Amino acid sequence: MTTNKNNLTTSWGAPVGDNQNSMTAGSRGPTLIQDVHLLEKLAHFNRERVPERVVHAKGAGAHGYFEVTNDVSKYTKAEFLSEVGKRTPLFVRFSTVAGENGSADSVRDPRGFAVKFYTEEGNYDLVGNNTPVFFIRDAIKFPDFIHTQKRHPVTHLKNPNAVWDFWSLSPESLHQVTILMSDRGIPATYRHMHGFGSHTFKWVNAEGEGVWIKYHFKTEQGIKNLTEEVGTKIAGENPDYHTQDLYEAIEKGDFPAWKLYVQIMPLEDADTYRFDPFDVTKVWSQKDYPLIEVGRMVLNRNPENYFAEVEQATFSPGTLVPGIEPSPDKMLQGRLFAYADAHRYRVGANHNSLPINRPKAEVHNYQRDGQMRIDSNGGGSVYYEPNSLGGPQESPENKTTAYPVSGSADSTAYDHNDHYTQAGDLYRLLSEEERIRLVSNIVGSMKQVTKDEIKLRQIQHFYKADPEYGTRVAEGLGLSVPQEV
Ligand code: NDP
Repeated sequence: MTTNKNNLTTSWGAPVGDNQNSMTAGSRGPTLIQDVHLLEKLAHFNRERVPERVVHAKGAGAHGYFEVTNDVSKYTKAEFLSEVGKRTPLFVRFSTVAGENGSADSVRDPRGFAVKFYTEEGNYDLVGNNTPVFFIRDAIKFPDFIHTQKRHPVTHLKNPNAVWDFWSLSPESLHQVTILMSDRGIPATYRHMHGFGSHTFKWVNAEGEGVWIKYHFKTEQGIKNLTEEVGTKIAGENPDYHTQDLYEAIEKGDFPAWKLYVQIMPLEDADTYRFDPFDVTKVWSQKDYPLIEVGRMVLNRNPENYFAEVEQATFSPGTLVPGIEPSPDKMLQGRLFAYADAHRYRVGANHNSLPINRPKAEVHNYQRDGQMRIDSNGGGSVYYEPNSLGGPQESPENKTTAYPVSGSADSTAYDHNDHYTQAGDLYRLLSEEERIRLVSNIVGSMKQVTKDEIKLRQIQHFYKADPEYGTRVAEGLGLSVPQEV
């Protein structure tokens, strides 16, 4: 007899006779090892979790589309940006950064803003945050930085001493710390925040001419934030507040949208601009490089299955298409390796074959085998190159552009060390009410630091950004601004 459509089956498709009572020797047991359905059910359950992302563990996702609204084809040959009106399907994942998978949404933390464009030339991932800058600018510091955001190895508690010790000894973090502690550090929902590519990338046109660019997604819902008090209250009442908000908005047809803009910098300006344009702790002033509209992103479809889509989605800044290339940004260069490597560990070497990650473009290459090879594995097609069997071939017109480099191979710091001007510019741009809340948020966090040495070192940094900023934080902590520490 063939299996009826409504029959419960094992994973190998055989009908299950009893799913409520395990098979026992006599009505009391013990349980029999021959109950393979029970064994399989328990064993599969034990394996339901893939490793949690080390960062960005808690997230929410949605499908949508991108539509080009301005002709940027003179800057990039990327096919999905080639003409006004062109639409490309996409998948977005928003996330908090430091918390675990079950942690609260409404905490003070940057938000991940990762977009996967399913273009006809392969997938393009724009893996950004809701802030234009980052805490550090060299990937070699990332594991240490994240350790300070995670739990203490003995107490398993969050550790404000580690957080502020690291920041005070890494003054390049000051700009991002100021954004994080400002009102925008807790967005009201995922819909009410901007997104940024943060790094500098290179766009290349059909003639092989390049420009440096930075991406800005501006929310059409408007910026809305939560105060520390409201965020804390919501975290207790509904830890999944942002996840629920995104799902429900889309479910009722209130589709969130963002306008995408780029700032464009001529290649030669990189050598003379007043900040290193590849330093991800800096923005490019919009007075120098104004925003140029590119298109509009709309999220209009919820995932059908959270694990299959949101959890298994794998984004990497190295997932690029012709016409979009990396810059020498040292943080980006590290991420080019680290993200894809995280996915190989977390989801597997064949993560790009899963439905949520599979490109709409056809994949032809000589990669074979590996765990969970769920497609046809190339069938009987040629499996090496070079070959005389008509296998897929490289296309030299799609090589990334060459650019000159010079200097010694060495462990070298960025040579621009002004960590203060832009953090101060941001402070000075805030209204008095915003400054009061910024200082209050900082003081609330730094109060938990038990070592005055750390607090004094950090106050110096705020002071160098703007004397008023440093003085107010010092006063809030009951300290005075120290002379140089
Ligand atoms: P601009 O006046 O040209 O740009 C200011 C930018 O700051 C706008 O993008 C604006 O975004 C954003 N902004 C406004 N209010 C706040 C706020 N309360 N918190 C965070 N961001 C805010 O000046 P510059 O380009 O010279 O930048 C000045 C400072 O603005 C920078 O030092 C940086 O800290 C901050 N900034 C700059 C960005 C850039 O790309 N240049 C991007 C984001 C912040 P909006 O229109 O959405 O309010």
